[in-house]
Amino acid sequence: MKKILVSGGSGFLGSHLCDRLVAKGEDILCVDNFFTGSKRNITHLLGQPNFELLRHDITFPLYVEVDQIFNLACPASPIHYQLDPVQTTKTSVHGAINMLGLAKRVKARILQASTSEVYGNPDVHPQIEEYWGNVNPIGIRACYDEGKRCAETLFFDYHRQHNLEIKVIRIFNTYGPRMHPNDGRVVSNFIVQAIKGEDISIYGDGQQTRSFCYVDDLIEAMLRMMESPAEFVGPVNVGCPVEFTMLELAEKVLKLTGGTSKLIFKPIPADDPRQRQPNIDLAKKWLGWEPKVSLEDGLSETIAYYRKRLAE
Ligand code: NAD
Ligand code: UDP
Repeated sequence: MKKILVSGGSGFLGSHLCDRLVAKGEDILCVDNFFTGSKRNITHLLGQPNFELLRHDITFPLYVEVDQIFNLACPASPIHYQLDPVQTTKTSVHGAINMLGLAKRVKARILQASTSEVYGNPDVHPQIEEYWGNVNPIGIRACYDEGKRCAETLFFDYHRQHNLEIKVIRIFNTYGPRMHPNDGRVVSNFIVQAIKGEDISIYGDGQQTRSFCYVDDLIEAMLRMMESPAEFVGPVNVGCPVEFTMLELAEKVLKLTGGTSKLIFKPIPADDPRQRQPNIDLAKKWLGWEPKVSLEDGLSETIAYYRKRLAE
């Protein structure tokens, strides 16, 4: 039984990761300050003997004994990470320093949940890991993008300087049950709007693209990365190598919900990337991984979750 710390463990991805690790019989310490996470995401785990919850902000040091660390703590949706941008940078940077310092002291292997946002508004397409990105360092997304880029720098310097066993994954847009209904991300917005019969908010002309990965596939990649050979540190892209425009996504959501909402066009937020799709050759090679769940199946599961949640 390994002692595993999951920071951000009561958030969307973190709670699914805790589910998988608890089911595997590992000893889980879930650390969260509940900025965007919720106890409802992990209530079902609270009675389990191999699950422990600690309210803690990772921008402050933490002294615990663990064998592995998954560092997921950080708000991920633009409206949440822009609410308190200074705190977002602190979470990424001070949080990484604290988690890396802990990993160094207890000699734990540590995985960083990085993001496709490190590529910014990419001029290489699809994005490969060697691409250094096109990020506006002073824009409204910079607190998140540059925070995550700096965290990657810290991970690689701890690896080179202190021989720490690191793993860095760059996560592309992921969706599924337990995404916060009001977090402003496109999949949750469109589904909630369609179920409530409200207008579907398309930002810009709706021709911008994203590639959507279902949460179960993503968590599988994360687990495989943690257990991969020590020499493979990443960064590795994890996401779905199929791209959709936001208009196509809206049509799919309306079809699957049976909704009749009309589409309305709103101004595009600043620095909104125009195109995004991962090249996942590296993940295929090292992790033997590629996503299995189709967008239709994943959206259906997510719609069922929101129907239940909105009826509560
Ligand atoms: P989320 O907002 O649901 O979860 C983040 C969790 O971190 C929340 O539970 C929140 O309360 C916690 N948290 C935030 N600041 C903290 C702090 N200072 N100390 C302790 N806990 C803190 O987001 P998510 O979608 O589950 O994302 C999880 C991780 O994956 C994030 O690091 C995010 O950057 C990364 N990621 C997610 C996506 C995606 O599409 N979901 C894409 C790329 C990267
Ligand atoms: N978007 C949209 N309508 C919404 C929410 C988002 O058209 O109600 C667009 C947004 O402008 C972006 C894409 O959907 O181009 C994905 O946005 P999200 O916030 O989910 O993720 P990110 O931009 O971080 O990839």
